[in-house]
Amino acid sequence: MHPPEADVVLVRHGELGVKSEQVRRKMEGRLAENLRAMLDARGLAGDIERRRNRLFVHTDEPDAVADAAADTFGVVSASPARTVEPTLEAIEAALAAATDANYAGGSFAVDATRAGPGDAHPFASTDIESEGGAAVWSAIESQGVEPVVDLDDPDFTLFVECRREEAYVFLEKRAGPGGLPLGTQRPVVALVSGGIDSPVAAWKLMARGCPVIPVYVDLGDYGGPDHRARARATVEQLADYAPGEAMAMHVVDAGAVVADLESEMDALRMLSVRRFMLAAAEAVAESEGAVGVVTGEAIGQKSSQTSANVAVTDAATDLPVHRPLVATDKSEITQRARDIGTFEDATVDTGCNRVAPELPETNADLDAVRAAEPDDLFERARACATARTVVPIER
Ligand code: ATP
Ligand code: MG
Repeated sequence: MHPPEADVVLVRHGELGVKSEQVRRKMEGRLAENLRAMLDARGLAGDIERRRNRLFVHTDEPDAVADAAADTFGVVSASPARTVEPTLEAIEAALAAATDANYAGGSFAVDATRAGPGDAHPFASTDIESEGGAAVWSAIESQGVEPVVDLDDPDFTLFVECRREEAYVFLEKRAGPGGLPLGTQRPVVALVSGGIDSPVAAWKLMARGCPVIPVYVDLGDYGGPDHRARARATVEQLADYAPGEAMAMHVVDAGAVVADLESEMDALRMLSVRRFMLAAAEAVAESEGAVGVVTGEAIGQKSSQTSANVAVTDAATDLPVHRPLVATDKSEITQRARDIGTFEDATVDTGCNRVAPELPETNADLDAVRAAEPDDLFERARACATARTVVPIER
């Protein structure tokens, strides 16, 4: 929702403000670049202006631009706004016009802030609220409705941000993902199965600034074209959040290894499959310059993810394994998957569920797993990783 004649989108970022001046400037620059790439990817026109602690996008398409900003990592909120003169008269007129166009019943409030030195304006923010509130009151009355002010939980909020050179009137703060701009951290490899969890986990690392290199491990007879297609579809969804980055899915063919593990191992089999995946991910990370691995594991979600078993799989790599969902309930992960658009593609059973033995070990011991698994497991993982297929994600 935006006022009539909205001509700008105010883009707020959060954590960047607490960085040193130098780091902040760099991060703000990156955020502006990423937002530019997001607007271009969506065919939206807009001039991005960088100001301290804010980006302003001057545009004729404020709604769509605000949506694009709200999908850009590092953005806390975005408001499509109308620019007016920084005078009480101009602000009151804009508030009345916004009420005429957008008020749909219920209580209201005017929420004003004023930036700049104390003498920048001959009025205070409280004057904007009281005078502006009176203008809104009249506008509601002229619709034949009895106005009700509710400062705590209004149905209709009119925001005013008054600066030295101009003032902005807007009606919402559209929530963005927050976090840090993509590309401000070194990349990580994302083990992506296309299930519900792993795309959410990858997205969370992206929201902390890490580009991801998606690795899908093809489990042969236990995976299949439907799984690979599903993984790819979720990677395509992730790529939409990274329009400035080239993204490709790295497919590691593990069919032969998994078949061997199936015939040679029993209760500990899944642990070695997981260890293979991490070793392969490490090899891909080395060749791609990535500094960690992210997985969608959550403690206790599956037999292979008990706290004991995670300790065994973790030992397969020296790289840090990031598990942003480690303590998140499935219902919350599922909700997030729906929000970010990866859920639709994630509703087929994962290959892992088919490889898992009937009675998997839930309290594995590292030495026992090492003794049971083939001696050349990690060598094979490296060889499979080297022979990987790289599938570019077209946009
Ligand atoms: P879900 O739990 O929703 O079925 P998932 O993707 O979390 O899907 P799990 O079986 O829980 O699948 O696997 C745990 C983690 O191991 C995944 O989050 C993912 O990071 C990794 N993983 C599992 N299978 C694969 C695979 N075939 N290729 C790449 N990574 C995988
Ligand atoms: Mg899972």
